[in-house]
Amino acid sequence: MSENSNTPLITVENLVKHYGGRRGPISWATGKPPINIRALNGVSFEVRRGETLGLIGESGCGKSTLGRALLRLHEPTSGKVVFDGTEVTALKPEALKAMRRHMQIIFQDPYASLNPRRTVADIIGLPLMLHGLAANRREMRDKVAAIMDKVGLKTNHLDRYPHQFSGGQRQRIGIARALISNPQFIVCDEPVSALDVSIQAQIIELLTGLKRDMGLTYLFVSHDISVIGYLSDRVAVMYLGEIVEMGPVETVLSNPRHPYTQSLMSAVPDVDHPGKHQRVRLTGDLPSPQSPPPGCKFHTRCPLATDLCRVEAPPRHDLGDGHTASCHLINDNVSILR
Ligand code: SF4
Repeated sequence: MSENSNTPLITVENLVKHYGGRRGPISWATGKPPINIRALNGVSFEVRRGETLGLIGESGCGKSTLGRALLRLHEPTSGKVVFDGTEVTALKPEALKAMRRHMQIIFQDPYASLNPRRTVADIIGLPLMLHGLAANRREMRDKVAAIMDKVGLKTNHLDRYPHQFSGGQRQRIGIARALISNPQFIVCDEPVSALDVSIQAQIIELLTGLKRDMGLTYLFVSHDISVIGYLSDRVAVMYLGEIVEMGPVETVLSNPRHPYTQSLMSAVPDVDHPGKHQRVRLTGDLPSPQSPPPGCKFHTRCPLATDLCRVEAPPRHDLGDGHTASCHLINDNVSILR
């Protein structure tokens, strides 16, 4: 981490994102209430300057929505995002466009995120033209060639199209596009999930090196706890639109205090004690974000749930050294692993 690593670059307060909710012709005709998906339910945290904050959770828990809501690619329903002293959630469209130069995203599916009819030079160079960072096409192409070299692409491939590259190369194109405006903050939204394992390692090494060389700050979204453990300084664990545990990565992964984090950790093989490893398989699926359960949202799958858990949401407990967890039984020091 950088020497400024304790100061927040991004502060998120009580961020809410609900989709739908307006009455349309079908809901009027059927008399049923309109569908309202509660993707984020009051999320608060900060990303410190120069760190990688890992964001982990099951598919559908809201982690990708959170990454997009920070950049206002998905407009938050309520709450506040402050980036380097500027309230992003209060910006008018022109100011937001200018701000995006500093806040970028790398998408999971490199092919879907690249325009198949554009050359690589135009795809990677687009942010330069949008933000007025190149005086002319020649300068744009020079800058694109420089960033292609930095991410391990051949500079004589400037005029090729996305389909002429492999999956790993296409993700390098996505990374180059995110970096070319010289941003401070990048949301890495499952950037290696769609790649072969051998390519994953190369892209992770590339992202690690770029962060070090360019002084970047990452929010790294993944469902893979070993990737999060390798890359992150701190980790936030998400369940059904809420952060249930957060803290320094080595603390949370070695001593998970929330039962949901414990279940995630139990899925990681313990190579040092193979005979003693206890895998906890949760019963049931992640509840629908259309009708999340009352009380603690994890109570429908938690082996330790009590009557209180079914009616009252647990507060966030401060466990010291930046470690927090939201569970009614946190002070009882119970674990689903015993
Ligand atoms: Fe389980 Fe209750 Fe803790 Fe929720 S509050 S994680 S249901 S013990």
